[in-house]
Amino acid sequence: MKALNGNLTKNGLTVEHNHNGCRHNGAELELIENIGDNHHFTNINTPLRKDAFDLDEDTKIDLIEEHFAEIMSIMGLDLSDDSLKGTPRRVAKMYIKEIFSGLNPLNKPEITLFDNKYGYHEMLIEKDITVHSNCEHHFVPIIGRAHIAYIPRKKVIGLSKINRLVQYYSKRPQVQERLTVQIANELRKALQTPDVAVIIEADHSCVMMRGVQDGNSSTITTQYCGQFENADIKSEFLRLLGR
Ligand SMILES: [Zn+2]
Repeated sequence: MKALNGNLTKNGLTVEHNHNGCRHNGAELELIENIGDNHHFTNINTPLRKDAFDLDEDTKIDLIEEHFAEIMSIMGLDLSDDSLKGTPRRVAKMYIKEIFSGLNPLNKPEITLFDNKYGYHEMLIEKDITVHSNCEHHFVPIIGRAHIAYIPRKKVIGLSKINRLVQYYSKRPQVQERLTVQIANELRKALQTPDVAVIIEADHSCVMMRGVQDGNSSTITTQYCGQFENADIKSEFLRLLGR
């Protein structure tokens, strides 16, 4: 196993680590803590490297397995123990195939649209969609629900596709605000209508388990687009949600 900083070669592919060896000065350390605790984010797009998908998934799993084993041993865990032995492999597979599978555009759900044959032009709401995501600042779960509404024009969407889109964007290291906007933008594009609203309410493990350790607070984010910016339509949406 190579050192954590420096280049790592696997199956002939080189992954460059632009890491400075983790020696941060006082100001940098303070900034790292502040960004995490304030859940500050800088970009509506998930920040990805240009070469994000140059490595295939199997290679990524092998590399993460090696590095996660190193993290566990640094913490002092005995990886020869039967219970811990397989953990680095399990974590690596879970990251790539499950909880962060939404990073890979190949996993984006195919959206099928249908003609709006019934001429339904009222609001349609899909509520209580399960959100399982992870905070990009602490890599611990964000668990919540999404409520989505749109006003159909010429096309309608298969309802389960809305859930799948929510899942796809959730399965990334995320910030709740970004997740909300990414889902709204995708739906506006897919449904060819600006009239979309997204509400997400979620509990953040990083707020509950560490830092301020508040197990009672939750976070609500909203994105109202098109007709949903109109106060009457917005309150109709909230009324139907039981707010
Ligand atoms: Zn966090």
